[in-house]
Amino acid sequence: MRPDILNPLFAEISLFKGIGPALARPLERLGLARAVDVAFHLPVSWVDRHLTDRLDMADAGRVVGIELTPVDYRASGSARAPFRVDAVDRYGNHVALVYFGKNSGWPRKLLPLGEPKYISGKLEAYGDTLQIVHPDVLAPEDAHMLPAREPVYGLSEGLTNNRMRDLVGQALTRAPELPEWIEPSLLARKDWPAWREALARVHADPADAMARARLAYDEIFAGQLALMLVRQSSRRRRGVPIQGDGRLRDMLKLPFAPTGAQRRATAEIEGDMAQATPMLRLLQGDVGSGKTLVALMALLNAVEAGMQGAMLAPTEILARQHYETLRKMASGLPIAIAILTGRDKGKAREATLMGLADGSIDILVGTHAIFQEAVQYKALGLAVIDEQHRFGVAQRMMLASKAERSPHLLVMTATPIPRTLTLTYYGEMEVSRLDEMPPGRQPIQTLVMAATRLDEVVEALARHVEGGGQAYWVCPLVEESETSDQAAAEMRAESLRERFGARVGLVHGRMKGPDKDAAMEAFAANRTQILVATTVIEVGVDVPNSSLIIIEGADRFGLAQLHQLRGRVGRGDKPSTCLLLRGNALGETSRARLALMRETNDGFRIAEADLELRGAGEVLGTRQSGEAALKVATPEHVAALVDSARDDAHLLIERDGGLDSARGQAARTCLYLFEKDAAVGLLRGG
Ligand code: ADP
Ligand code: MG
Repeated sequence: MRPDILNPLFAEISLFKGIGPALARPLERLGLARAVDVAFHLPVSWVDRHLTDRLDMADAGRVVGIELTPVDYRASGSARAPFRVDAVDRYGNHVALVYFGKNSGWPRKLLPLGEPKYISGKLEAYGDTLQIVHPDVLAPEDAHMLPAREPVYGLSEGLTNNRMRDLVGQALTRAPELPEWIEPSLLARKDWPAWREALARVHADPADAMARARLAYDEIFAGQLALMLVRQSSRRRRGVPIQGDGRLRDMLKLPFAPTGAQRRATAEIEGDMAQATPMLRLLQGDVGSGKTLVALMALLNAVEAGMQGAMLAPTEILARQHYETLRKMASGLPIAIAILTGRDKGKAREATLMGLADGSIDILVGTHAIFQEAVQYKALGLAVIDEQHRFGVAQRMMLASKAERSPHLLVMTATPIPRTLTLTYYGEMEVSRLDEMPPGRQPIQTLVMAATRLDEVVEALARHVEGGGQAYWVCPLVEESETSDQAAAEMRAESLRERFGARVGLVHGRMKGPDKDAAMEAFAANRTQILVATTVIEVGVDVPNSSLIIIEGADRFGLAQLHQLRGRVGRGDKPSTCLLLRGNALGETSRARLALMRETNDGFRIAEADLELRGAGEVLGTRQSGEAALKVATPEHVAALVDSARDDAHLLIERDGGLDSARGQAARTCLYLFEKDAAVGLLRGG
């Protein structure tokens, strides 16, 4: 149970003062639901406001705070020119306060002539006059409300920085003093403040690196501690040593020979599975490197030894695809492979559950449904998790509860995760890398084009399809809602159908399951040649004959996502092309992203660049799932602090494995603060 002291922090944000329905949506978009979310919504930057009383001493280009008196209005002649308020400081220096937009009513109301006001905004030189565009205006006695250093928060439409500051203030009043969990000598050495003080300090001064480092450390420490608790409990549970005799694997009729990397990974996995300690291994391989075959080998190893295997996919589409792939690869083998997803109901589901319980099903593929309460295995020996990022500590525990002895665990990911991050997320997990692509792969040529050249793109698509090729057409992410994603995809499919008729298929996240399957199947069987899709095709979908991918609105995707999407092609023996369509007004970051995509196919380089351009959470794709995302710590923090956090956590567990001492109790509070409830649950009597 979460300690009472944390309750005020976990109160719903709807209890805050001044939260109306208009704020619900913007807050939800930022993932701010409870006081704790707001408390950890740390400022991303700040403005230093130059507080002065004379304009001739202020620097143009900086944000100033100054008392001014409006002396004249300059309504403009033309409708498009702005409305100007001429104002003077107390030494008679002039500045124009500039308002764009038709209505001059509200600047007049806000700035009555002759009434001194406290004005803040960016001072700009415009010709030989000074101006401030759309300044903040306060009564002089409220000047203190604009501090010299003002934190700037991440916002979403409908939410202003001032509003956010108010919410943060309310969250801070709910933040209690917490018992100290950091090892005293470390705390002293770093000269870090206590938790509550550190939090208040970062919100008051976003540049306070020491206070930030403390908060980051807490988060990394909680992560390390949680991992160790999971490991400790899985060590307590013994696994089953599994050693297949190879009889099933020898029967496989593969159209290709495994790569050296696939052989090595397979051998490492067999070695782990032969141990009584449950395997905890991460299989890393770029898109298309052939992870599925390695998974199959491991699954067959378990089945040969009389055990069952389960394979978990993150989405319905992927689960179906894996099911088909495994069945195809294993055709002719005397084994039973079944599928179970949330969609399987009634008799079929009952039959599958029976088969799992009596052992007549050897391998089960599916979505999270396969580890739910009602699903009982006769002898689950191995679980394979494809695309790690939606699988966290809580799921791992659910899995452990599926068998008397802990199953071996193989986690597969296409995201090349830098080592420091692997440590943070997986602790001492072993890693196998598929660093060699299957032979005969054709390189993917990547081109960036302006979306205004859509006609040319459609012509290129027509030539491609006439030549017997297939293509994906990925529709842009629309921020507002999932519904608009869908609408964008439907409209694109519609317009392509005018030209290509029934050759166009469509798949998006809000389609009903069977319709999705039907669309995927039609494309896989080459009954449709163009598949219009949203990002549902991002992970794992495998149609080797499709050698062209067009990504609309490419500048709105992250690097890792673009790389994943691009990985849908280049899977067959034909050279492939990836067309990135971009909007016209490109920001610096988007430009850099697209340039890098054009330059390299190397997933590792892309992941590292992504890490530089964005936070760690997004690289891992965990930002939405929330499970493993880091809220506070940056990659730099992780690199600098993970070693001492690990040592600290290790020492604590060695001395006080049940976290019963005063410091142990404080550490529990830290775990709850970062929502590692599942890990605390592993403590006996926790
Ligand atoms: P990923 O690592 O992205 O999951 P897959 O397992 O889907 O990759 O494999 C990608 C493609 O490569 C599949 O079409 C698969 O049949 C093929 N493949 C896998 N291993 C080899 C190999 N050793 N030689 C040739 N093709 C292979
Ligand atoms: Mg895959």
